Amino acid sequence: MAKLIKDSKDAFQVLELIFKDQDKDGLWEYINDNFGIAIPRKAICEDHNAPFDFVADVFFQKVQNAIALANRTGGKTTDFAILDVLNSYYWPECETATAGAIEEQAKKCYGYFQNWINNIPIFNERVLDLLMRETKFTNGSMVQILTGTMSGVNSPHPQKAFLDEIELMMWNIIQEAFSMPQSKGEILGQLILTSTRKFAFGPMERLLDEAEERGFDVYRWCVMETIEKHDPEICRKSVFAEDCQGRCLECNGYLKLEDVIAAKMRLDKDTWDSQWMCKRPSQKALVYPQFNEAFHVKKTKVDTGAELILAEDFGFAEGHADVVGFFQVKPSGRVSMVDEIWIEGKTDSDIITLVEDKIIELGFIPDRYKDKKRTDADLRRLLNLAVNIWYCPIEEPSKIELRRRAGFNVTAMADADARKVINGLPLVRKALQDRIITFDPKCKKTVKEIKIYANKVRADGTILDEPAKKNDNGPDMVRYFFINHFPAKQAGHFQETKSDEVKPITSGIADVTF
Ligand SMILES: [Zn+2]
Ligand SMILES: [Zn+2]
Repeated sequence: MAKLIKDSKDAFQVLELIFKDQDKDGLWEYINDNFGIAIPRKAICEDHNAPFDFVADVFFQKVQNAIALANRTGGKTTDFAILDVLNSYYWPECETATAGAIEEQAKKCYGYFQNWINNIPIFNERVLDLLMRETKFTNGSMVQILTGTMSGVNSPHPQKAFLDEIELMMWNIIQEAFSMPQSKGEILGQLILTSTRKFAFGPMERLLDEAEERGFDVYRWCVMETIEKHDPEICRKSVFAEDCQGRCLECNGYLKLEDVIAAKMRLDKDTWDSQWMCKRPSQKALVYPQFNEAFHVKKTKVDTGAELILAEDFGFAEGHADVVGFFQVKPSGRVSMVDEIWIEGKTDSDIITLVEDKIIELGFIPDRYKDKKRTDADLRRLLNLAVNIWYCPIEEPSKIELRRRAGFNVTAMADADARKVINGLPLVRKALQDRIITFDPKCKKTVKEIKIYANKVRADGTILDEPAKKNDNGPDMVRYFFINHFPAKQAGHFQETKSDEVKPITSGIADVTF
């Protein structure tokens, strides 16, 4: 195609034609000829896309909101820089804001962008002003490449908002970007996010999880889509063989086999699987890695003849829901969480009413009482009787008092050691590991949080042995259930150190690891 392009006018008309025909092959050639970059155009894994599918769909405006999950060195930053150039070249008065999570990322993107618009004549002759903060083109288009935040862009509503490596961005910055892009004439407002995925509790996993309801198209690729066609003999004898599975000659990327092998040898399996194969987020830093939906989430039949136990984590404000869990314990010691209430901004009397409604909904009240008014003494007696015990945190005695006044048997663990988060976790871990606890699918929010409840991670990647105060509403409630219902000593899960010294009831728990 390059041979057909005689001058810059031709070059523009060719791109115009490509766009009008949505000619994918033409676009690939155009990028290859002008930028010298052969973006991999073949999907190798069954459920993955070719990186070029993503670039083409974004340029052709086939997607409005999109997320690309890619491997390390998967070409995301280059793709954005190419789109920055092409969009500004093609559209008049198109504003693009590209943000990298960290400065290095933004600089790398700008480096590519600057190099191309300086050195490729068809683009260069359209540049008015070249600065990282703001590059202006003769057609009125503008590109801003920033670090970390979108709040610094001059145009608060660019047509193209690109966020690179969102795994490293704060959730509020990502959210800020949601309302940014605005269409203008034929130029579609687009919000495009890319990242590797590191942690199960990270922003990338959260967005992938919410992609459908937020209206995002998802693209995925991994090292298989980005590695070069390579020698099957060398591959077969290497650590990469189990990943490649003989697809060596199908590959058409750019990563060198020896570099990929070297990367794999440097990394642990968990990191390799999450950041290079894009299989699943890292399980590192999870507080409950023992949790597995396949056997911990199970439909449960409520036994209305048996005891019903409640555990509550108080809450009110947004993001700090009040959570009530409904539990049943079999004589064998098996625990089922049968239902949950998650509610924000409600008073104690509202919550008590919701609990009472749930008791009725679960079938604990005989039919003939159901229609009576809540104040009816018989109904109240039955509601109170249905709940064997209601566990609450001790820190808010007035809330406990209100539940008691409504006639419920409320109790709270008083032992300060047992109440420490670090001392409660082993009880829950043990129960998960021994598979003595299951959650009914109705306990959706509790399950969602237990899955991603994570320890604090320092900026340098060090994982602390202390849960972050995030996604902890459900997990706290479950922990209250365990510290109250199966206090460490009574449950006999832990061996006491043999000593004549008087030890607190929970001694030794903190030393137990699973
Ligand atoms: Zn793949
Ligand atoms: Zn291979």
